[in-house]
Amino acid sequence: MAMEEPRHPMTVIAFSDPSDIQLSEHFRLSEFTRSAAAIRYDIDNTPDIEDIEALQCLCIHVLEPLRKKFGVLKITSGYRSPMLNAKVRGAHNSQHMKGQAADLFVSNNEVARKYYDFIRKNLEYDQLLLEMKTVRGVGYVHCIHVSYNNEGENRRQAISNYRVK
Ligand SMILES: [Zn+2]
Repeated sequence: MAMEEPRHPMTVIAFSDPSDIQLSEHFRLSEFTRSAAAIRYDIDNTPDIEDIEALQCLCIHVLEPLRKKFGVLKITSGYRSPMLNAKVRGAHNSQHMKGQAADLFVSNNEVARKYYDFIRKNLEYDQLLLEMKTVRGVGYVHCIHVSYNNEGENRRQAISNYRVK
């Protein structure tokens, strides 16, 4: 009998490093909390249980299907504590602060476009940005930002040429 995917994820499994946990089949919490800026500025970037639940939902509904299609993904920014978000000049209401968003490394424009199109056509998501940064007048892809709202409606808002200042 077909069953809908659970909106709320499975039990949290602890690893030998108690601060790290498996969020889903291929993603661990540490991939979403590590931050060069947090280390440099000595900022606490520990998520609470609600943030972790949100990250699990993001993994299950967006990142696992994307990984299944394209292979290993590199998370460049996942969870951000409010202090870290302010430090990196994230949006004041950034979904990164709720564990609902992740930025993905993309090696080139073509890969970014493939991720973008796959998510947009096949997955449930809240916001999807193909972020562009202009350098010396040449537009190049910065990263993919994707979010999943585990608390309400997913808006499926996609912007393919989002300019980063
Ligand atoms: Zn982002």
